[in-house]
Amino acid sequence: MNIKTKTKDLINNIPSNVTLVAVSKTKSVEEIALSYEAGQHVFGENKIQEMALKWEALPKDISWHMIGHVQTNKVKYMSRFVDLIHGVDSYKLLKEIQKQAYKNDRIISCLVQIRIAEEETKFGLPPDQLNTLLEDSKIFKNVKIVGLMGMATFTEDKDQIASEFKLLKRLFDKTNEKLPDMKILSMGMSGDYKIAIECGSNMVRIGSKIFGVRNY
Ligand SMILES: *Cc1c(COP(=O)(O)O)cnc(C)c1O
Repeated sequence: MNIKTKTKDLINNIPSNVTLVAVSKTKSVEEIALSYEAGQHVFGENKIQEMALKWEALPKDISWHMIGHVQTNKVKYMSRFVDLIHGVDSYKLLKEIQKQAYKNDRIISCLVQIRIAEEETKFGLPPDQLNTLLEDSKIFKNVKIVGLMGMATFTEDKDQIASEFKLLKRLFDKTNEKLPDMKILSMGMSGDYKIAIECGSNMVRIGSKIFGVRNY
């Protein structure tokens, strides 16, 4: 199957309340254009400068999501156009996003990445630190925190994946009760998006299932 068919299949197969982010990292502008022509207008990248080049080259009605780890000194390269930053996990990063969003007279939407995986990972905020971060970031008028993001352990064990996603869903529900603006729950990739949707995800980030394997 080609990129167009795979894009259409996915759009038709995920529930209508779930937003599909097509993860196009390492893929060419031409490949992204094929998915765009099939009706996909939301794309995710994990390298800021690569995303900026693609933003320049492709139609301007594309919504660009930054899904990877964000280095503070690179926020400026995406602050003009990025629609959603998934991987926010520190006050320091929020402060820089605030600074760059203000400069560009924009309000930038962000998700807080929560560490849910059992495996060792450097990225993501421990769940018990979420409330403090939300409280501290209230002073940032050009940043809007609109939800949570998480990645499950890379494993074949479906029960473990589901239990990690359910943990994030519970945290999301608790937060959403107090803060109705928190409405996005970004979880699920090519290998586990079906489980994620069953566990309450409303945004999936899918790369290889659309574009094929990546050559780094
Ligand atoms: C690469 C990536 C994805 C997509 O992965 P696939 O397995 O190709 O679907 C999703 N989320 C993040 C954060 C990624 O870095």
